[in-house]
Amino acid sequence: MVSSIESSVGIERKVVTELPGPKSQALHERRKAVVSAGLTVGFPVYIERAEGAILVDVDGNQLLDLGSGIAVTSIGHAVPALVDAVSQQVASFTHTCFMVTPYESYVEVCEELADLTPGSHAKTSALFNSGAEAVENAVKVARLATGRSAIIVFEHAYHGRTNLTMALTAKNMPYKDHFGPFAPEVYRVPMSYPYRDGLSGAEAAANAIKIIETDVGAENVAALLIEPIQGEGGFVVPAEGFLPALSKWTTDHGVVFIADEIQTGFCRTGDWFAVDHEGVVPDIVTTAKGLAGGMPLAAVTGRAELMNAVHEGGLGGTYGGNPVAAVAALATIKTLRDRNLLGRAREIGDILLANLRSLQQDVAIIGEVRGRGAMVAIELIEPGTKTPNAVAAKAIITYCQQHGVVALPCGTYGNVIRLLPPLIISDEQLADGLGVLGDAVRSVQ
Ligand SMILES: *Cc1c(COP(=O)(O)O)cnc(C)c1O
Repeated sequence: MVSSIESSVGIERKVVTELPGPKSQALHERRKAVVSAGLTVGFPVYIERAEGAILVDVDGNQLLDLGSGIAVTSIGHAVPALVDAVSQQVASFTHTCFMVTPYESYVEVCEELADLTPGSHAKTSALFNSGAEAVENAVKVARLATGRSAIIVFEHAYHGRTNLTMALTAKNMPYKDHFGPFAPEVYRVPMSYPYRDGLSGAEAAANAIKIIETDVGAENVAALLIEPIQGEGGFVVPAEGFLPALSKWTTDHGVVFIADEIQTGFCRTGDWFAVDHEGVVPDIVTTAKGLAGGMPLAAVTGRAELMNAVHEGGLGGTYGGNPVAAVAALATIKTLRDRNLLGRAREIGDILLANLRSLQQDVAIIGEVRGRGAMVAIELIEPGTKTPNAVAAKAIITYCQQHGVVALPCGTYGNVIRLLPPLIISDEQLADGLGVLGDAVRSVQ
């Protein structure tokens, strides 16, 4: 059966068993014998197929996907353009290793990245398999190009789970606990978090810069690495002016500004990249998640003079920029453009923010509604305080799951619920999901 976005409009949320259903429960039992317990599952329903914004599980339940596999399937599931491109590529060849014998689609992806990422300067890219790998390589390039070693990161940051990226990530549990020792020369400074620090962007930037200059010294800093809107850390949107002030400071001090756009990139926030919102032009941008519609692909894109400072053979990997993933990225980018999903992300943002702000008026446990485009969250608190309320967040997510809606938690304190719907979601599906979420919030209130 050929799936299509058009036909998915007819597919709606439908719960036909308890959730998880009996077949999912059996699979989950089977899994316990052979899958490491270190991988937790947020919602143990086993998926058989998916279409548009709907996941169909092995028990025949139709779940509304408000997570997009963590901001990955932004163009929706089983999009014909992507299915066709990937199928044809698999039939032609699946792998040569770009460093052994190259192919055109890799070059084409790098052309798109040079074109789409902020700034009109000459840019080159290198492709990898995962977000963490891209971040590691961005740090390698920045250190080599500057001859310096210190990396500045932020509170609540998330950059991955490999050894270097664990050091760059803020939160101990579950990401870092007992996995050390960690890579050295990583320095953490406060993030602008308007709901909790009450500072303007300029004040928060001045505060961070003062710490960098006194504790590290600008002349030792290779790169400042920041998520323009934090993802796992709680969808923290820095106050206006914070990113431009940091960007200016890096330029003034020969520091490489790396924007980690792995979660925010590719139209998610209503711009191609979240830094575009304030006209910030990073020296290096890391991308992954939304780039290739679910195929594993990540990229480091930066000023040509930085990226090309690397000696021959200094960057690479067996699978990076795999031809199947590369054509998936080209089909994804074309779909984002052809369907104007950037505009759609803005519309989704307007709907989400208006709906959730009105819900906030009715209840006492939503401290803040924040986000941009199709990247919006509610931060839950104990009524009348700003004390994080992780218990409420968990109960709300469980309610959503039991009613066939996939929503994800996040936040350093586990008290934030984030919405990352696929950008092709219909108004009706969005209203349906928001209805369930509203009922869930009222039920724990
Ligand atoms: C998910 C994420 C990463 C890590 O990507 P993986 O593909 O899981 O390694 C890095 N940075 C940000 C901002 C992310 O959201």
